[in-house]
Amino acid sequence: MSDQPTAAPAAPEAPEAPPKRVYQPCPCGKVPEQLMLEVNEQNKLGRALCPCGVWGLEFLRGFEKDPEKILDKAQQAWDSAPRPSEDS
Ligand SMILES: [Zn+2]
Repeated sequence: MSDQPTAAPAAPEAPEAPPKRVYQPCPCGKVPEQLMLEVNEQNKLGRALCPCGVWGLEFLRGFEKDPEKILDKAQQAWDSAPRPSEDS
């Protein structure tokens, strides 16, 4: 006697979907959904900017060419960078 519940269909995974990144907030007060990257093949430094254009930083790209890995480095720099103080 089998009284098994109908197996739910497995949710299809989307292997192409990049993992959702969550960034630390920008000093402008927003949490950027994505960073604007400026990378140049001749330059081992790249720049990561908040889409607001208010704040950005440089990060060491090194010889990395994979966009996802470059983004990893940018995010690491972004998340760990000291935010400018609001005192002025
Ligand atoms: Zn911003």
